[in-house]
Amino acid sequence: MNVFQRCINPQCRSTFDVGEILHRCPTCGALLDVEYDWDKLPTPKKLADFEKYWSERSNPQRFSGVWRFHELLPFAPLDQCVTVGEGQTILQRSNGVAEYVGAAAGSLYLQYEGMNPSGSFKDNGMAAGTTHGRLVGATQAACASTGNTSASLALYCAASKSMKSVVFVGSGKIAYGKLSQALDYGARTVQIQGDFDDAMARVQEVSKKTGIYLLNSLNPFRLEGQKTIMFRVLEALRWEVPDWIVVPGGNLGNSSSFGKAFIELKKLGLIDRVPRLAVINAAGADTLDRLYNDEGLRWNGGNVDNAKIDAFYAQMDAENRRASTIASAIEINRPVNLTKCLRALDFCDGVVRKVSEQEIVDAKASVGANGFGCEPASAASVAGAKKLVAEGVIGRDERVVCILTGHQLKDPNATVAYHGADPAFFESVLGKRGVATAPLANRPVVVGNDIDAILDVLR
Ligand SMILES: *Cc1c(COP(=O)(O)O)cnc(C)c1O
Ligand SMILES: [Zn+2]
Repeated sequence: MNVFQRCINPQCRSTFDVGEILHRCPTCGALLDVEYDWDKLPTPKKLADFEKYWSERSNPQRFSGVWRFHELLPFAPLDQCVTVGEGQTILQRSNGVAEYVGAAAGSLYLQYEGMNPSGSFKDNGMAAGTTHGRLVGATQAACASTGNTSASLALYCAASKSMKSVVFVGSGKIAYGKLSQALDYGARTVQIQGDFDDAMARVQEVSKKTGIYLLNSLNPFRLEGQKTIMFRVLEALRWEVPDWIVVPGGNLGNSSSFGKAFIELKKLGLIDRVPRLAVINAAGADTLDRLYNDEGLRWNGGNVDNAKIDAFYAQMDAENRRASTIASAIEINRPVNLTKCLRALDFCDGVVRKVSEQEIVDAKASVGANGFGCEPASAASVAGAKKLVAEGVIGRDERVVCILTGHQLKDPNATVAYHGADPAFFESVLGKRGVATAPLANRPVVVGNDIDAILDVLR
């Protein structure tokens, strides 16, 4: 077998067939990777070799921004790979956002993953995850979600007709744009009396008891698809490696898959240097930041200090601390991919920061005002970049790519609360989170139904 699953724990390293449905290593409980015997597979000599597929856009798999990099995630035959046209996303330089962040003109780029079919980067992973699900004959797939995973799963199941979808969401925690998608795409939607961390725990039990195929980012095949976000960033930079990748951290699947992408590109000799990685938590969901910066938790060659993590969670439970942030997509206190993220931080000489609610909504307004737009969680990347430039960790002239993970229309409440003129709505959505002001607000103007008054306003 040229493709297999392997436990990431160096003490274990058990391997499993690609056709097995596993969420964690049955031997030791650690996370699993999809691994390849690269020597026996046709890998490209240089990244520019992928350009030959640009002219094959009438082939749906080669049109896909995920599967046109098939040689770098070859776990299924190309013609059996599920695609809904994901990954038509762009990397755009933004001097406006560079100025906001304090970086030099020309140095800041936004990778706009909101352009995916369901409006978030999750589609990269779902194309790969549903491909594996179909390969192993699953008829039903489930996920726990803060919103975007469920929207993406529901869309992929509806469009590919290969499985039925069941999504578990915390009650009252999901942005309306995302909930509306899950319902519209026909997912069986289960609202649990609890938050995301509760829903995540329950869906793993359900999956174990019923055999429903699990499509959270615990699923290593999903993370294979998300590697392609980095391939497209390099593609857009004409295969040059940037200095920094800045990404919001929730369940830490994205940061983990970026790390794996660079580990493999380096191993294959397709890049000669590795970008640094910055993972940004919301202050109200800061498990990674606390463990990494306060507790000094590290990958440590794979020998992660699990006792430290257990003690941290025990303390969290004792204090009944729950994740709470306007950036609902990263409102997660028990990130399932924590150890893989530590590996990514280790390989990419990474840093972790947390940003406040105020920093998030202001950064989001800056992204919007510069003609892109994103949901609150995505703006954590821009807020994090701003913080790291101010600290001098990111140099003003370094080439920085911020990942905008989700579309602006996902969470209209947050946007209208920020810009709108209704103090009660501001208070109920943002004020209660600790947002005090809206310095970048673009207030609507209320005017009588009278031409002179209207002209007055426009003067
Ligand atoms: C899922 C999601 C995140 C968090 O990504 P992880 O892989 O869970 O760390 C951030 N932003 C948006 C918009 C998301 O949908
Ligand atoms: Zn193991």
